[in-house]
Amino acid sequence: MALSEFDLIQRYFQKSTLQNSENCLGIGDDCALLQLQPNQQMAVTVDTMVSGVHFFPDVEPEFLAKKLLAVNLSDLAAMGAEPFAVTLALTLPEINENWLKQFSQAFFEMADVYQVDLIGGDTTSGPLTLTLQAMGRLENNSALKRTGCQPGDSIVVTGSIGAAGLGLKIEQGQYQSITGESLKCFHQPQPRVAEGICLRTRANACIDISDGLAADLNHLLESSQVGATIDWHKIPINSEVQDYIATTADWQHPLISGEDYELCFTICQEQMDTLDFPCTQIGTVETEPGLRIRYQNTTQTLKVKGFEHFS
Ligand code: ADP
Ligand code: MG
Repeated sequence: MALSEFDLIQRYFQKSTLQNSENCLGIGDDCALLQLQPNQQMAVTVDTMVSGVHFFPDVEPEFLAKKLLAVNLSDLAAMGAEPFAVTLALTLPEINENWLKQFSQAFFEMADVYQVDLIGGDTTSGPLTLTLQAMGRLENNSALKRTGCQPGDSIVVTGSIGAAGLGLKIEQGQYQSITGESLKCFHQPQPRVAEGICLRTRANACIDISDGLAADLNHLLESSQVGATIDWHKIPINSEVQDYIATTADWQHPLISGEDYELCFTICQEQMDTLDFPCTQIGTVETEPGLRIRYQNTTQTLKVKGFEHFS
């Protein structure tokens, strides 16, 4: 007999214990119950992934589960929040226990790494769509916002840029993989949670790079009413992206390709010296609005747009 909605939730998503003290009541009642410490705020974010829009319909459930968590935890990281709970809304075209098993196993594998509890959700039938809401804790008024950039700040990024976007091109058959490195970045982005928490008391502003370095840095600058010059030659790119640019002359790739889920932040020099994780300074915040880029001895103003739905 086919699995009922309630059996499905119980079998694949309900855990007997919750890891975080904020989570007073998890799956099983009409609502979850949360209790924060009096000196703490909650950061909340939600992201939806739709089959055929955000992922290929035949993608491995394992990649899907981990990416769904990664994109949400990345938003928490960008605010400096420490994740403790998620809710999951699943719309499934059918009950496929093999799929559900792989999905939920991978989901909890990653949730355990980041110590987040699944405290509720919704299960419906329809075209494959996944929505995750993530919640994180922050000391009161300590969140890293987009509005804090100061002229003179260094502009810094974690990881390497443009790899996930190249992974997508490889997945689409537009380019041949050399090392497999970029494909991995595309399928399994790593949210920079520890880095975000470290930056909370050090950086002035932060954003995660989901729509492309230029578009997301632009959001940061516009929110702070400042501008910047970045040096293209300082943007960290992996060897596959280097080869890709050398072969295709598509030098703008690291500026416009999305889904890296790295952090881009601005920070003063004194605080920069206290960071204990790998990151790269690529430019400086300036009072003059606009985003300028130095490439091969010329500086040009960038007018690149990231990905937008409905456009
Ligand atoms: P209601 O009908 O009252 O909204 P549901 O029957 O949808 O409740 O859900 C029962 C319980 O299971 C709730 O606690 C809900 O949060 C949880 N739940 C439902 N679907 C999921 C899911 N995909 N993942 C995690 N928890 C879920
Ligand atoms: Mg419901």
